[in-house]
Amino acid sequence: MEYIDLHAHMVSRTTDDYERMALSGCLALTEPAFWAGYDRRSVDVFADYFDRLTDFEPKRAALYGIQHYTWLCLNPKEGEDRELTQQVLDIIPEFLDKPNVLGIGEIGLNRVTRNELATFQDHVDLAVAHDQLIHIHTPHLEDKYKGTKTIVDALVADGRVQPGRVMVDHAEEHTLPMILERGFWTGITLYPTTKTSPGRAVDMVERYGSERICVASACDWGPSDPLAVPRFILEMRRRGHGEEFIRKIVLENPAAFLGQSPKFQLPHARAASVVG
Ligand SMILES: [Zn+2]
Repeated sequence: MEYIDLHAHMVSRTTDDYERMALSGCLALTEPAFWAGYDRRSVDVFADYFDRLTDFEPKRAALYGIQHYTWLCLNPKEGEDRELTQQVLDIIPEFLDKPNVLGIGEIGLNRVTRNELATFQDHVDLAVAHDQLIHIHTPHLEDKYKGTKTIVDALVADGRVQPGRVMVDHAEEHTLPMILERGFWTGITLYPTTKTSPGRAVDMVERYGSERICVASACDWGPSDPLAVPRFILEMRRRGHGEEFIRKIVLENPAAFLGQSPKFQLPHARAASVVG
């Protein structure tokens, strides 16, 4: 089945992974800027990273017919450094006009500190000033509920951001309702051994339906699987869900959310009908 992977860190992945994703039906993916596994020492390293996300990765994806899009930011973990944050925020606008940049992300919180919150707010200001879509990372494990609540409360109180233009990702059973009730889009990221499994994601869809819900592989440098979305599709079929219902979650929903950016398009005519 054709699908869009809404969250894939391809800089951590080999070209073989692009090929396997293409073979399994991936039409397009979006790659949020994230933590590299170590703290970067200067703004120049971010400029190089943004270059890679806006130049090298779309070319690599195109070799397999996959449309590559990206989101730019300084991630929540390094956002603790307010001086570096300011320097990175200053260079992001230079990249916003690149054809594959859909918006600001993945911004959010990690340990839910005061500095992280200030950095989050700076990125929201940037998105509002440049009319960008927003992709949000919510913390993992014990910080998830508190962090997600802090983020959605801050956005609602801010009032300038339309919830329908925001994707709140890494949702789990206990955070999904608060995200959807406020009108945001939500993403469930799938992992092979840690965090949410494809089976748990199917449980959530069975409970909450398909409205404004997407799934993604996250596939980064940790234990993760670039074929997590096809595995979700398999699990949905195994439980007897119809093709139309599955297609809405893996293709039509992400196309509707991403299609709010005039830059977003799918690689061929059959899929293009989805974005109208
Ligand atoms: Zn991520």
